[in-house]
Amino acid sequence: MTRSNAIGLIRSWVDSANDPLGDFPLNNLALGVFEAGNGPRCGVAIGAHVLDATALEAEGVLDLHRPICAQPSWNALMAAGPKAWAAFRAQMTALLREGAANQAQIVPHLHSMAHVTLQLPFTVAEFTDFYAGRHHATNVGTMFRGAENALPANWLHIPIGYNGRASSVLVSGTPVRRPWGQVKGPDDSAPRFAPSQRFDFELELGAIVGQPSNGPVSVGQANDMIFGYVLLNDWSARDIQAWEYQPLGPFQSKATATTISPWIVMRAALDPFRAGPPMRETPLLPHLADAGDNFHDIALEVTLTPEDGTPETITRTNTRELYYSPAQQLAHHTTSGCPMRVGDLLGSGTISGPTPDSRGSMLELSWGGQSHIKVNGTPRAFLNDGDTVTLSGAAIGKGYRIGFGPCDGTILPALENPYAP
Ligand code: CA
Repeated sequence: MTRSNAIGLIRSWVDSANDPLGDFPLNNLALGVFEAGNGPRCGVAIGAHVLDATALEAEGVLDLHRPICAQPSWNALMAAGPKAWAAFRAQMTALLREGAANQAQIVPHLHSMAHVTLQLPFTVAEFTDFYAGRHHATNVGTMFRGAENALPANWLHIPIGYNGRASSVLVSGTPVRRPWGQVKGPDDSAPRFAPSQRFDFELELGAIVGQPSNGPVSVGQANDMIFGYVLLNDWSARDIQAWEYQPLGPFQSKATATTISPWIVMRAALDPFRAGPPMRETPLLPHLADAGDNFHDIALEVTLTPEDGTPETITRTNTRELYYSPAQQLAHHTTSGCPMRVGDLLGSGTISGPTPDSRGSMLELSWGGQSHIKVNGTPRAFLNDGDTVTLSGAAIGKGYRIGFGPCDGTILPALENPYAP
């Protein structure tokens, strides 16, 4: 059960924040880094505006007894810890709620969201990507190994993952260049070096680690370490992946780019939408066992817009389709003693639902390119140059929603052969 009806809209004196269809009511207080002609600054989304938190802190209106917004990233607030996270939300709520006393002091620091550019909201320390969606793992396993061997023997016992590259993480709106790579030839002895012909997206939820660890942590402790969430698109070159992935997993197929949404939704904003775990026919070992409602009810969509085309929604699903919660992923990550750092980003793995119209990648939507889906009336298997992929997501409350803003990227054509003599 979710608790989404327990809290209603917290009304703000910023009128646009009371729009029931907006992503950024006062309940959300999503965190970004924006540029409005005065250098990059920390901002808080409120309705159709961005509030300059760096200016508020400089004026002493926002005061957490230490600098939080001196650098254009939210890592300082993360490092300050859960008590500071709560104090920050309490202060911002008091400043922005209906009837607040000091509106005249705040108004000059509100910028129209339409007139700012957004940057990465935090410095990504390290990036790990999991594979925690059961429908996705089953679909991919069925395509690659057959229905009998779809899920590997370990899958129902550990959240499988691989260590990615923080350097590849981009903010929404940054174009993504189609990569070159080594792909399988007609037989295994004759691979080719070529632009990927099977470039794809993956619909994921990213969890941001806000507190460090140095040793194994429990699922409950891991939950308390999570600062917030972003939407995440793990761009994937399927032809490069199919050739390289055995036996050590994905490498260059996932290294081109990973796009995240520009707004961090703090964990507290999603607390009313917490949900319980899925059915488990195989119990987890005690150190990974479910500990409370560590899943979320967040509706997700993917829209594909062809170059010179119109946006078309190609999938609808929900984060409740995950088999392992972000807290279980993080706890598993620490079992070896692997230290976690402030600003670590954990991708959930592709979130597909049980039906064909809820699949979170083109690989699944087109079933390996065999059965083409139609976009703007044209059959499609993978992504074309000029395509824009937009992920969106929101937790739906009573009279309000907690959104992430769009997470999008447009495919640029591959370069000329970078190794041409
Ligand atoms: Ca992935």
